[in-house]
Amino acid sequence: MAKQAVVIGAGMIGLMTAYYLRGNGLDVTVVDAGEPGMGCSFGNAGFICPSLSAPLPGPGLVLQSLLWALRGDSPLYIKPQALPRLLPWLLRFWGHCNESEQDAGLAAMLAFNLRTVELFDRLRADGVVFEMHEEGLLVAFLDEQGLQREFAELRKIERHGFPAPQRLDRDAAQALESNLSDRVVGGVLLPAERHVQPRSLSLGLMRHLEQAGVEFRANTRVDGLDLRDGKIAAATARGEGIGGDLFVLTAGVWTRQLAAMANVRLPLEAGKGYSVTLPAPGEPFRHALYFGDTKVVLSQYRDEVRIAGTMEFSGYNTTLDAKRVHGLRKAAARYLRALPDERGQAWTGMRPMTPDGLPVIGRLPGVENAFVSTGHSMNGVFMAPVSGEALAELILDGTTRADIGAFDPRRFVRH
Ligand SMILES: Cc1cc2nc3c(=O)[nH]c(=O)nc-3n(C[C@H](O)[C@H](O)[C@H](O)COP(=O)(O)OP(=O)(O)OC[C@H]3O[C@@H](n4cnc5c(N)ncnc54)[C@H](O)[C@@H]3O)c2cc1C
Repeated sequence: MAKQAVVIGAGMIGLMTAYYLRGNGLDVTVVDAGEPGMGCSFGNAGFICPSLSAPLPGPGLVLQSLLWALRGDSPLYIKPQALPRLLPWLLRFWGHCNESEQDAGLAAMLAFNLRTVELFDRLRADGVVFEMHEEGLLVAFLDEQGLQREFAELRKIERHGFPAPQRLDRDAAQALESNLSDRVVGGVLLPAERHVQPRSLSLGLMRHLEQAGVEFRANTRVDGLDLRDGKIAAATARGEGIGGDLFVLTAGVWTRQLAAMANVRLPLEAGKGYSVTLPAPGEPFRHALYFGDTKVVLSQYRDEVRIAGTMEFSGYNTTLDAKRVHGLRKAAARYLRALPDERGQAWTGMRPMTPDGLPVIGRLPGVENAFVSTGHSMNGVFMAPVSGEALAELILDGTTRADIGAFDPRRFVRH
């Protein structure tokens, strides 16, 4: 009889892990506290952009984040009222803000993501239906020095087997995107990057998994783990037991609470981001756009345009701060000749953040039959296939073809 896997949390990471487990013959039950795909995986930008996967903690960010803390519309914002509670986590985060760790983290991320684009193609070939755009990513800048710095950073990807970024002057950037304003001094084209409409991907995966016999338990919040002899016997939800041979914790930012039920302390914090989704303009954008000076991004989908960004540390909450939504629109407007002036649909989601900016993928320490995949911060959509594939390999073969050493949960764990 096939082994029974219970995947707890059905965001992009849980759905994709279920996909690879089921594809390898396991019986799979997916449990979600709400509707699958409606957490952080819902309203994000959907960039498939391994080139931009440098871990968030980097040189200069300690001072910068403190200065930005004073400004409600800054790219990274620490809410002063939340500071006392966040301080222990922030101290760990600031401890990783140096060049050598960021470079090492980027190298680990790029190596891990070498097959990302290929795996998205394979998903489609396997019959998962979703909206994907393949025209590349254009990074635009208003400031020449910022452009030079970013171009130098982006060139690091060449050493890791990714296509070379192409530097563009203003005319070349505007030739690719006629809506870019004259304030833009130039940009960088990353031709191999893509973007997906994230809801289409989570729905496509759900349909595919249901057809493949995966059982979904929506609106079922796991509130306990029944531990016996160092193993999880069942996950519990309002007193009901959900039994299985192995358990995978993929509940995004909430994985902190789930791991704690197995006496494992994972240092996850919520990095809130915002997006606003507008009707598509008359002339659609051809590329995914990254407004480099402000860290705001824009995705063109079939029927709409989404502007997304900001990193807010204010604890676990999904309160929509109108000032930050307005900040997104204002930032994008500086780069564009025109932007639909409708109010649009505002959204916020909590990115699962770790202090070193790297995900947590592997065995849950101290529990024989539990595994974890979370902490994907700004990269959880595009890292979902490689993460799902690697975890399935670890579960089934005890080893992975990709190196996941840098993502080992044991780097954090105190029992
Ligand atoms: C504004 C913004 C823009 C972004 N843009 C991009 C991008 O362009 N590209 C990219 O790759 N990434 C992007 N990200 C990051 C990406 O969205 C996240 O990394 C990713 O969605 C995390 O997925 P997840 O599956 O780990 O978590 P989630 O999607 O949050 O899923 C966790 C699930 O667990 C469930 N759950 C929680 N607790 C329990 C429980 N106790 N029992 C059962 N279920 C539970 C929740 O209901 C939820 O469905 C962006 C994020 C934001 C906020």
